Parts: sequence; C-alpha cells; structure tokens
Amino acid sequence: MPIGDWFKKEQKDDAQSAEKRAVPDGVWEKCPGCNEALFIKELERNHMVCSKCDYHFPISAQQRIDNLTDHGSFEELWAEMHSEDPLHFIGVKAYTMSLDKAKKTTGLQDAAVCGRALIDGRRVVLGVIDFKFIGGSMGAVVGEKITRTIELATAEEIPVITVSSSGGARMQEGMISLMQMAKTSAAVARHSAAGLPYISVMANPTTGGVTASFATLADIIIAEPRALIGFAGPRVIEQTIKQKLPKDFQTAEFNLQHGQIDMIVDRANMKRTISRIIDYMGS
Ligand SMILES: [Zn+2]
Repeated sequence: MPIGDWFKKEQKDDAQSAEKRAVPDGVWEKCPGCNEALFIKELERNHMVCSKCDYHFPISAQQRIDNLTDHGSFEELWAEMHSEDPLHFIGVKAYTMSLDKAKKTTGLQDAAVCGRALIDGRRVVLGVIDFKFIGGSMGAVVGEKITRTIELATAEEIPVITVSSSGGARMQEGMISLMQMAKTSAAVARHSAAGLPYISVMANPTTGGVTASFATLADIIIAEPRALIGFAGPRVIEQTIKQKLPKDFQTAEFNLQHGQIDMIVDRANMKRTISRIIDYMGS
C-alpha cells in the first residue's frame, strides 16, 4: 500500500470517530426522514415517531403490541411454533441459517406474534408481523398463526386485528408459502360471514403475498403515514406496463386517495382509533 493511502485511511477514521462522538450510541438516533438527531428517550415516549417530521421508525412486534393493547393484557398463543424447512431450501444461503439468525436477532420463533388482548378494555385477538424476522415474510408458520388468530376470534365472537409489515410470501418455502394466501383468506371469509369485525393495520412496508391476502381483506384497512403498500415493486411494474409510474406511487397517501385503504392513522392515535372502530362496528 502506498504511504499516502495510510494517511487517507487515518483521516477517514478520524472523520468517522468524530461522527460517532457527535451521536453516541444509545442516546441519540438520526431520523432518516429529516436527518435530525433525536433523543432516544424522547423518541420512545413518542412511540418511535419523529417529532420534527412525523417519520415512523420501524418497530418490533412487541413494541406494536405494547403500543396497541392495555398494559399486561396480551396473552401470547402458539409462541413455540417454528418452521421445519419443508423444502430443505438452499439459496444464497441455507434457509435454516436464515431462520437461526432471525431467531437470534428477534428472540422469536417466527415472524408472527399472536394472542388475546384488551384494547381499551375491549376483547380482541391480535396478530402482529415482525419485519425483522426474514422481512416479515409469510411461510407456513405465519400463515398458520394468522389463520388460528382469525379462527379464534370467530369462535369467541370477538374482533380480530392484524398489523402487517412484510415483504410478502416466504419464497424459501415455495408453494407452501403461497398456499398461506388462500388459507388466511378463507379464514377471513368465515369471520366475515359470521358478521364479526376485522381491522387490518398496514405498516411500512406491506407488500407481496401479505397485501394480496389477509391484509387487504379487512372491513377497515388502516395504514401508518407514508407506509409503502403494494404488491410488486415499482421497477417490476414499470417494466411490465412500460409506463412511468406516478410520484408517490404505493405510499399510504396514494393508496388512500385511490380508495385502496380507508384511513391513515398516526401511531400515537392508533389504539384509540381502533377501539372507536370496534365500538362503531359493535363486537
Ligand atoms: Zn424526522
């Protein structure tokens, strides 16, 4: 290595460490929406939403449950259900390796966290998808848990709520993951035929097989502000239809304007809005 490069590297390290000093780990978080440095404690108090620009930070399934349900009321079900890698799939890396990594990162057995809960004292069954677990993708376990969530609500004659953030079907499970679209949809149809409410919340991003099944089959579809909502990605669509897509295509706001969703609700108002809708629909 030429001697000049040593100096360059040193300068870069200096710049990086200066940046680190300005934003110490665990105290400040830089907002991807407006680049402001936000005090983490304040950000947490604000439901992980930027007070300057309303950017909704990604949050875990547990944080969503804490945000939506009455304190201590969530009773998790089917927590130990896990994927058996039915196809023994090896892509860029083995599916079992992706599963192990996701389990370690999230502490979950798969991407869906489901259970009974109270929302402002109203009984519901709730299913939440955690994007950090392999992009919140729906394989056999997510499909089965969401189906059981809906079926339990039907059996107990109470509302069902889902909160999605997902890249779509889990392709490492091939055809089995696609079957979950039909399975969850059939459960929604039975719940609806029983005259029971279903509210779907779409967080950033909700795409692919989750958009194309239970997430868009609800009586009321709510999105978080600026959430990406779509089926295929914009590049694929542009290549297929050979047309330039409109600005803001696939944002929650665009979907609301075009009638695909019913409302956009800030994270801070989500719980109150859902409990009001439950009252309005009658449980
Ligand atoms: Zn911001």
